[in-house]
Amino acid sequence: MSELEYKVIVGLEIHVQLATRTKMFCSCGLGFGGEANTRVCPVCIGMPGVLPVMNKQAFEYSVLAALALNCNIPSFTKWDRKSYYYPDLPKNYQISQYDLPMSEHGYIEIPLEDGTTKKIRILRAHLEEDAGKNTHTFGNFSAIDLNRTGTPLLEIVTEPDLSSGAEVKALAVELQRIVRYLGVSHGDMQKGHMRFEPNINLEIIKEGKAYRTPITEVKNLNSFRALEGSVKYETVRQLDEFMETGVTFGMGNKRTFGWDDVNECTVLQREKEEAHDYRYFPDPDLVPVEMNDEWLAEIKGQLCELPIQKQQRFVDEYKLSEYDAAVLTGDRATAEFFDGAVKLGADAKRVCNILTQTGLKMANEKGCSAAELGVSVENLATLAKMVDAGDINANAATKIFEEMTASDKGPAVLAGKLNLVQKSDAGEIEGFVDEVLGANAEAVAEAKSGSKKSKKAMGFLMGQVMQKSKGQANPQVVSQLLNKKLGESE
Ligand code: ZN
Ligand code: MN
Repeated sequence: MSELEYKVIVGLEIHVQLATRTKMFCSCGLGFGGEANTRVCPVCIGMPGVLPVMNKQAFEYSVLAALALNCNIPSFTKWDRKSYYYPDLPKNYQISQYDLPMSEHGYIEIPLEDGTTKKIRILRAHLEEDAGKNTHTFGNFSAIDLNRTGTPLLEIVTEPDLSSGAEVKALAVELQRIVRYLGVSHGDMQKGHMRFEPNINLEIIKEGKAYRTPITEVKNLNSFRALEGSVKYETVRQLDEFMETGVTFGMGNKRTFGWDDVNECTVLQREKEEAHDYRYFPDPDLVPVEMNDEWLAEIKGQLCELPIQKQQRFVDEYKLSEYDAAVLTGDRATAEFFDGAVKLGADAKRVCNILTQTGLKMANEKGCSAAELGVSVENLATLAKMVDAGDINANAATKIFEEMTASDKGPAVLAGKLNLVQKSDAGEIEGFVDEVLGANAEAVAEAKSGSKKSKKAMGFLMGQVMQKSKGQANPQVVSQLLNKKLGESE
């Protein structure tokens, strides 16, 4: 069979759980797990006669996220009821937004593997409430936990601008960075704070003609791995299906699939998407929200430099590699910790090395950010400067950094205490060099000989001097002195 030319087309629907203290329309707390049906009240379980009240913080978080996604914020937005009947939705409708969402027409810039970026258009982002959870762990019975009911969700819908599993994953990772930078969501995938639904199909060129395959919607993915895997799997499955059956969009339309995490494949759930009639209508219990310039300006004031901008700046201004810049901008606290030390005059590459080789490792072990290890920005900057001044070597910097996390003493004091101060005083080192040269005539001769052995002999002499200085001599100074002396006595 001939190789077919094809293009992957993916759009995403994403639900992001906001990091508010309380639910969207009542004062029940947000949480994860806990005893079933303990974080509920008459409002969130929809008892007759109760009145929902909008959580202002949730609305402001949504606007902040939408601004970071370059969306328009209309001055008027309203709430709608989306009706459906489901055991985990006892009031039989979800409060959502239909024709007048709180934001629309933006884009998110995602980093690609080749170091460039790509803009993915955002159709809209709106605010809504989550449903409860059905659990099936009681033998023949199913149980319903309404603790999650009423949790504020920001639903983001992209245009179908993504063209590979890698791009889809890049968007997910970037969105997670953005919501965490802004503090609007914890973005914890394991707790379902970000749930993805990709819509996937292909454009296939066959004998000069373009065909589109039916769209697959994969429901409720909450890991980057599943997200990327589902796109890759669907690409192959849809190609195979097209070659076998010739089915195209219009004949098959849209189908709903789930993801089998164990076998890493998509599984058909609904063959024919039923014509949904959600009977959307404005919620009569909630007043529309009017956004004025003053309020919008106030929220805009909470925007920060976005992660991708920070990453680009670290590459452009500080000459870091794309990789290092991505690692350091992984979380905002670490990025600001790094940036702060550089702004205090430390060399960027040096601070980067200390953080990537030591700080991030320790942070990872402790489950915190590198900025939370107990080392101040000032001490980090001083430590980096000490390495560059030749006061300590890179290994010593690691030890001192580790020590600083458990001490309130500065790097200079700790370097002295731990005997890690490097000797750069030529006079003192010269004494060691003379001693070593005097005691190793054979090695000296070999070093001077210019033969194959001279490099090895030089290394030996170097090691002897370092040993005499108890490892504290600055190797650069030792090397300079050795070369000078071996050259002189020709
Ligand atoms: Zn409640
Ligand atoms: Mn939704």
